[in-house]
Amino acid sequence: MNINLKDKRALITGASSGLGEIIAKEFAADGAKIGLNYHSHPDAAEKIASNIRENGADVFTLQSDVSDAESVEAMFEKFIKQYGGIDILVNNAGIDGNRALVWESDISEWEKVVKINLFGPYYCAREALKYMTVQKSGVILNMTSVHENIPWSGYSGYAAAKAGLSMLTKTIAQEVGSLGIRVMSLAPGAIKTPINQSVWGNPNSLADLIDKIPYGRLGEREEVAKAAAFLVSENASYVTGSTLFVDGAMIDYANFTHGG
Ligand code: NAD
Repeated sequence: MNINLKDKRALITGASSGLGEIIAKEFAADGAKIGLNYHSHPDAAEKIASNIRENGADVFTLQSDVSDAESVEAMFEKFIKQYGGIDILVNNAGIDGNRALVWESDISEWEKVVKINLFGPYYCAREALKYMTVQKSGVILNMTSVHENIPWSGYSGYAAAKAGLSMLTKTIAQEVGSLGIRVMSLAPGAIKTPINQSVWGNPNSLADLIDKIPYGRLGEREEVAKAAAFLVSENASYVTGSTLFVDGAMIDYANFTHGG
């Protein structure tokens, strides 16, 4: 399938590592102009940007903490100044936080997880839509998780935020449908990135994780990036308000694979 994002102006949050990095590279290869957001790793972001530039694409880096509304506003000002509008927003930045049962959890840690995973996409969508609603075009892709559906003991803030983000996707899609703007969620399962390195880096926890995946393996970053590129492209022109799971059937109750 030919994915054409030629001259589409795309802002990708949390793009100095993991899925954000590979999505930025994929979109750039498909012709998009990239605003590459990072939080605290300027060197990593610049290295990715120069790699993208070497391949002939237009890219620049943007520092911002997505959990801070003022910082997000300033990032959008810079992005719009550079490209004059926005066609694609990927709300990718996220953290899962430290494992803690609810009654043992630290309130500020819980708030931080929800602020980054849910408030961040809201702040960014709010800014992007100021321009997209005037242009009457645009696509927002929110990176949720299988945990928008699957409860995750010890990670209540993460699961609650991702479930909330899924509903934010659907609600915004309703608000902007008549304006020609699409809004979707992409829900990865277990993909090899820095966020879950402690799990796939350990043979026992890796085996336990693979047990939860009917397809029998972890996903690769490229498999998420290809799906993201499809969703933001015209090939998905009638897809909005829903979630695409890229998860090897992880949400499909793996324990029932051999009957129940
Ligand atoms: P990652 O840790 O490599 O990427 C997360 C990125 O978010 C990092 O670059 C980090 O710097 C950035 N970030 C964190 N706080 C930020 C803030 N306040 N402002 C701006 N950026 C911030 O991990 P990843 O796997 O690439 O995760 C990307 C997204 O995919 C996350 O939303 C995550 O929840 C989601 N996800 C990942 C998996 C997986 O298996 N890897 C599964 C489901 C969902």
